[in-house]
Amino acid sequence: MSDKKNSIEEEELDPIVIRGAREHNLKSVDIDIPTQKFVVITGPSGSGKSSLAFDTLFAEGQRRYMESLSAYARQFMEQLSKPEVDWIDGLSPSISIEQKTISSHPRSTVGTVTSIYDFVRLLYARVGEVRDPESGETLRALDEDEIIFKVQKSAKEGERIHLYASVVRGKKGEYLREFEQWRRMGFSKVRIDEKMHDLFDPILISRHSHHDIDVLLDSITIGKPDVEQRIRDAMKICDKVSEGWLKTIGRESKEENLYGKKIALPSSGRSFPDLEPRLFSFNSPYGMCKNCKGLGLIDTPKKTRKTRNLEVENLDDLEDDEIMVNCPECKGARLNADALSVTILGKTVHEFSEMSGQHLIGFLEKAMPTIENPVSIRLLGEIIERLKFLDEVGVGYLSLSRRSSTLSGGEAQRIRLATQLGTQLSGVLYVLDEPSIGLHPKDHQKLLKSLKGLRDLGNSVVVVEHDEETMIAADHLIEFGPGAGVHGGTIVAQGTPKELIDGNLCSSAEYLSGKRLVSEKRDRRKGNGQSIDVTGCQGHNLQNVDLCLPLGKLIAFTGVSGSGKSSLIRHTIEACIAQKFYRSLTDPLKFKTIQGIENIDKLVRVDQKPIGRSPRSNPATYTGLFSPIRAIFAQSPDAQIRGYTPGTFSFNVKGGRCDHCEGGGRVKIEMHFLPDVYIPCEVCHGARYRRDVLEVRFKGKSISEVLELSIEEALKVFENQPLVEPKLRTLVEVGLGYLKLGQAATTLSGGEAQRIKLAKELSKKSTGKTLYMLDEPTTGLHFDDIRKLLLICHKLVDLGNTVVIIEHNLDVISAADWLVELGPGAGGEGGLVVFEGTPEQLIKIPGQSNTGPFLQDFYSRRGW
Ligand code: ADP
Ligand code: ADP
Ligand code: ZN
Repeated sequence: MSDKKNSIEEEELDPIVIRGAREHNLKSVDIDIPTQKFVVITGPSGSGKSSLAFDTLFAEGQRRYMESLSAYARQFMEQLSKPEVDWIDGLSPSISIEQKTISSHPRSTVGTVTSIYDFVRLLYARVGEVRDPESGETLRALDEDEIIFKVQKSAKEGERIHLYASVVRGKKGEYLREFEQWRRMGFSKVRIDEKMHDLFDPILISRHSHHDIDVLLDSITIGKPDVEQRIRDAMKICDKVSEGWLKTIGRESKEENLYGKKIALPSSGRSFPDLEPRLFSFNSPYGMCKNCKGLGLIDTPKKTRKTRNLEVENLDDLEDDEIMVNCPECKGARLNADALSVTILGKTVHEFSEMSGQHLIGFLEKAMPTIENPVSIRLLGEIIERLKFLDEVGVGYLSLSRRSSTLSGGEAQRIRLATQLGTQLSGVLYVLDEPSIGLHPKDHQKLLKSLKGLRDLGNSVVVVEHDEETMIAADHLIEFGPGAGVHGGTIVAQGTPKELIDGNLCSSAEYLSGKRLVSEKRDRRKGNGQSIDVTGCQGHNLQNVDLCLPLGKLIAFTGVSGSGKSSLIRHTIEACIAQKFYRSLTDPLKFKTIQGIENIDKLVRVDQKPIGRSPRSNPATYTGLFSPIRAIFAQSPDAQIRGYTPGTFSFNVKGGRCDHCEGGGRVKIEMHFLPDVYIPCEVCHGARYRRDVLEVRFKGKSISEVLELSIEEALKVFENQPLVEPKLRTLVEVGLGYLKLGQAATTLSGGEAQRIKLAKELSKKSTGKTLYMLDEPTTGLHFDDIRKLLLICHKLVDLGNTVVIIEHNLDVISAADWLVELGPGAGGEGGLVVFEGTPEQLIKIPGQSNTGPFLQDFYSRRGW
């Protein structure tokens, strides 16, 4: 920083001071984190980055905020969420921007979660044009002078016309009370279903049902000097009797005309609802399509659910979504016909919402000059600004109508980030988790600019990240480690990236400087000559794509975010295979032909989804380790004497578990308006089992203590146990030795969950004909971890299997036998295969794709 002003500021700002942080594996960490800086925390997976950034820093910031809230929330917050730390100073209000899907609620869309749709609704209410659904003609409300002018023009000079208040239009009813009222108001004539009647006519008094009723207000002769005043008077009375609908009928020409200060629909004579924001809300009865209640989708009769092959994990997700079809009434637009007859530059609010953010910006800039009202112009400006934030963080290809439930974690996080940029807050501590996920290297710079933008507003930005470019862009870089779990929990080095690299102070620095490599250059496998071929893929943005997947290779798929990778791999090829093999109910996206499925015998998706949503699920239960462990306990003499069975040692069934918490070890407390919290069970104190069950020991450990062991520790305890040891060993091999056997699935990171799944696969007998699908497996992984992951993948391919990886990480891309790139852009600008071949082939024609130049640079830095 040569800038003088900057260096002065640097001295003035107090850092966030943390002393004695001991959350999870942290070993009494002391650190000063500079404020109003872009701080990157890195280190191996499981080393304690999140424990510091989220569970200490953010948790404490949030807890202090909560304490200022309700007393009810406070009593629990104080004893429960206080992080294990001696003290923290200089903390400001904290906001975390995480990757959790924003909301899986079907009403939630990109437009609603960003609040942009609120502005859009206002805009449509202010400047929208109404079109007659029948004729397509533009309609608008008239003012009083216009009505007077029109009435006078409606008949010839000297012609006599009747002025009526049009009260009932096409609605069946008896209306006896209304007749009585009009009599009292002094009216004498009404026109009922096109016939004139005297209001005192006995026929009216007898009970009859009527459909159209007009009350005669006056009769005037066009051209007379008092005409204008009499129309004005009639309109005043008309407002009192009806909703203000004035009907004129010429005596000779019999022509009928309806006028109102509201918009009338000529075809039905019905008045159009007022243009107000709620008309454009699919969450309001005023705007929603009645048929689908604003969801845009309706349930189709549910097919009987078949039991699925249990070997396939996570292939059954999205199923509920998929069984819904577009509502036939609104065709998925969610809104009723009235709302959809309002347009801006010819586009309905639904068509508007279907455009990508980038296209919308262009559209609105085009609309700007056609608008006069300054308030509306400002509104337009607000929308454009927010859309630009979305584009800046790399999700400009998304449309406002896109359902939140279909967004990836990275997309959801970037949307949150854009929303924060829009709020223009300052003095806030932002904590983010790997914002680069899902982003092609080409879009990293944009994202970094946004993060620095957040800093420049006067905020502290703390990011947990493994991406090289992000590390190098940091004002301050902190490395945790040296290892994971008990082997981590300390700060290895900190300083500017340059200081760390120059001093070679940590393992990141070694990788950044190229002293250490994630993978060596290797020969490309030839594959087994077989392939899976698809043609004519047209789902989402795919433009009639044909693709050949060569089997027996490590295949990397890349392309900018939104280019169509998931649409092609997951939602077409994988869905198609899943349907053939496992009778999955999810239909693949549209394609023409697929060949070669018979060349594989199994499909395994290894993603970052949790291994279970319940805290009862854990690494031991998921990998099948816990059953043999329980059997070992049941075989011990102590257990035999007491008549215990393996079931006694289960915390999921009645028998040996603590009855109070039903083996959970914790009890849930429901909080109003806040997430549920858990407190330790007061009977077993978290041990999960009955006292007598805990007395049974294996090598001195109770079953509860075994669940508390790390996998590495467990390996020593269960050495030479044939059903246990190999599984534990595989978990250590994939770098998870630091996890506790009984660690709740809900506390595992996506990367950890993914590696547990890989370990489970690795410990099964390989058929050598399996197709593995991995989606961004480097998420949450440090250089060393990526090394381990690649070794596993190579091992699987060496056994004859095929591994397909969707990835942006250049270490992984350069390790692939075969590379496919989709693009060239996102959304409508993508959807094509722009490259297929080996990494070396791409290097020869780097201009062919977005990845080419980055890969070329990567190669030259390594001197390959
Ligand atoms: P990182 O963010 O560097 O990947 P974490 O801070 O998530 O690492 O984890 C550090 C250690 O703490 C790991 O051993 C992890 O398994 C453990 N850990 C994380 N969350 C919890 C939790 N809720 N309960 C118990 N242990 C946890
Ligand atoms: P990538 O995996 O390369 O990031 P995707 O296949 O997810 O790209 O997206 C390609 C295009 O399809 C994008 O324009 C995206 O917005 C759109 N898209 C993806 N999923 C859906 C969905 N469930 N509904 C509608 N559009 C989608
Ligand atoms: Zn209990």
